[in-house]
Amino acid sequence: MTPPTARDLAIQVMPVSPEATCAAVFNRLLSDPETRHIPVVWNGRPIGLISRKNFLLTYVRMYGAELYGRRPVKELMERDILIVDAKTSCEAINARARNAFGDGRMRPFVVTDGGIYAGIGNAEKLMMVMADLATARAAALEEQTRRAEAANASKTQFLASMSHELRTPLNAIIGFADLMRLKTMGEMHPPRYGEYIEDIHRSGVHLLKMINELLDMAKIESGHVELCETIFHPMNVGLEVVQMLRQSIANAKLQLHIDVVDGLPPIHADQQQIRRVLINLLSNAIKYTPAGGTVTLAVCVCAEDEGCGVEGMLLTVEDTGIGIPAEKIEKVLEPFEQVENSFTRTRAGTGLGLALTKAMVEAHGGRFWLESELGKGTKAHALLPVSRIVHDAEVARKRVV
Ligand code: ATP
Ligand code: MG
Repeated sequence: MTPPTARDLAIQVMPVSPEATCAAVFNRLLSDPETRHIPVVWNGRPIGLISRKNFLLTYVRMYGAELYGRRPVKELMERDILIVDAKTSCEAINARARNAFGDGRMRPFVVTDGGIYAGIGNAEKLMMVMADLATARAAALEEQTRRAEAANASKTQFLASMSHELRTPLNAIIGFADLMRLKTMGEMHPPRYGEYIEDIHRSGVHLLKMINELLDMAKIESGHVELCETIFHPMNVGLEVVQMLRQSIANAKLQLHIDVVDGLPPIHADQQQIRRVLINLLSNAIKYTPAGGTVTLAVCVCAEDEGCGVEGMLLTVEDTGIGIPAEKIEKVLEPFEQVENSFTRTRAGTGLGLALTKAMVEAHGGRFWLESELGKGTKAHALLPVSRIVHDAEVARKRVV
């Protein structure tokens, strides 16, 4: 169906000549109470409009009839009229009709065909067409959203099955490489194979991490993150992660500090996700801090009235590393964003760690942000809301894990 234009809105109203007398026009308006506007046309072209209300107001005023009766109607017509060509779209008429007179009110308009009078535009009909258009647009948008959601769901499904297909053989590769690397069945011959196996193992672990992160990102983007909540002490998780990364910290020749006060309450959160948050942040701190530097893990409960400026359970990982340039601090929180430097070039990474971390903290109703100074170090803060802190000692004792 072709969209309606001015032609479809035109109603045929017999025009008058500008020389017709006002008395004749008055009689016509009296005999036809339905006529609200009469076009004034000269040589086929519209030059003005008689509006019933304005015309009658002037005409029936005291002495109006004597004054105007014999005069040409052009003296009482409105000259400031909106003329639209028959091919103009309803949207364009709508925009012009609303802007033309500055007050946003809908006015009548005259339709022409090649400049020749073709009818008076019906403003009510225009409104109806616009309403239909808006309804059709809303329906089209809804359909688009539905399709986008369906496409997203199948993308997640595709990624889920893909990563399953990839993970199974990859786990075998990693497992066997590990066996060989640890010389479980004896020495390698020739010994050079030992180096290759180390490479195979390292690459396999990296690939697996990447696949897992991509899948997590896809899940988060499609809104499929579900929290598996329990009550636990975040510091216990922190210590576990530190233990896991102890070797990397030693290899990177870094000092580790743990800054925690006694008696911190437990939290109600997804333990697996909090573990991932701490792994990502501590791995970054280790990765982007040159030898001799320090990495600190701090956990505390903040209350706004204590001057912290924030409220909740705050997990902070601080390092004395290379830092992030100010203009990149927000950017690195987006997927695949990395700061181009010798560290990112020489160390493995996909740029998903921080985006995932932020998404996981936000899934808990929390907030994640970075503070950093180039060449001095970085502080990554994950703030869990007060509602995640378990204050009820009884509940905590019963269910804490
Ligand atoms: P991935 O975590 O996916 O293995 P990645 O570490 O490069 O890769 P993110 O953790 O998302 O990705 O970090 C994004 C970028 O932010 C990093 O590439 C790095 O440039 C910068 N960055 C993150 N943490 C730090 C930090 N502690 N010090 C300096 N730069 C950092
Ligand atoms: Mg990272």
